[in-house]
Order: sequence, then C-alpha cells, then structure tokens
Amino acid sequence: MTEHLEPVFDKPYGPSQMRDISWGNNKSYHGLDCQMCGTTNNGTEDVPLTWSFIGDRQLVDSCCGKLLDDIYVTLGERFMEAYLGAFSRNPTNPRFSFFRGYQLPAALEVATQTISETTTAIGRLDRLTKEVSQRVEDKPTFA
Ligand SMILES: [Zn+2]
Repeated sequence: MTEHLEPVFDKPYGPSQMRDISWGNNKSYHGLDCQMCGTTNNGTEDVPLTWSFIGDRQLVDSCCGKLLDDIYVTLGERFMEAYLGAFSRNPTNPRFSFFRGYQLPAALEVATQTISETTTAIGRLDRLTKEVSQRVEDKPTFA
C-alpha cells in the first residue's frame, strides 16, 4: 500500500516505449497506486516501478513511463552534460561512486567494443567497394 497523494494527471500519461533503457527496477509491486495518475496496478505480472519521481511520488512505468521517455528525449543530453560536468569537477565525491565504479567502466567497455566493430565493418565495406570498382573497371566493354 502506498501513501495516497492527489494524482498529478487526470489519466495515465502512457507506458514507457524505451524498453532498451528500462526506467523501472523490475521488482514486483501489486496493488500499487501510481502517484502520478492514480492508477492502481493490480495485474498479476511484475510491475516495473520508478520510485521518487517528483519528491516522494512513485511513478509506475506501465501507466506513466512515457513521461520519463519524453523528459529523456527532451532533456537527457542536458542532464548528461550537467552530470558529467559535476563528475569532472569532483570525481571522488561519494555521490559518483556507482557511476565511477560501475556505470562509467561498463559504458566505456561497450563503447570501445562498438567503435572497434564499426571500424572493422567500415574497413570491410571499403575493401568490398574497391573490389566492386575494380571488377567494373576490368569488365570488357562493347563498342
Ligand atoms: Zn501512472
């Protein structure tokens, strides 16, 4: 049971569409009221949840997660720049311990791997393009 707060919206904002990001923590909460729209989630499936969206309000992905999608699309880059700026000014601050110890190394590993794979693919395409160009040049022409 969650604290009853007056909903912010008069209807659900919409479910999150950005499943590759997953805003919620994927725990199971049944009988949970979304404190953004007032929907009670009584489903039998797990209800991903994002806690403390505004103040102590709980936002449930399945009814209002699209709000996070929209904020991310609109402001995500600005937030990232601000966060990285604060990190670069004080990287040993305990506030950044999870980012410094897990998220940043994991992101850099994935980015490095992706860059390597992309570079290899570009090299392969470049060689193929040259081979095709050579075949076209070598092809006999009819006068
Ligand atoms: Zn909701």
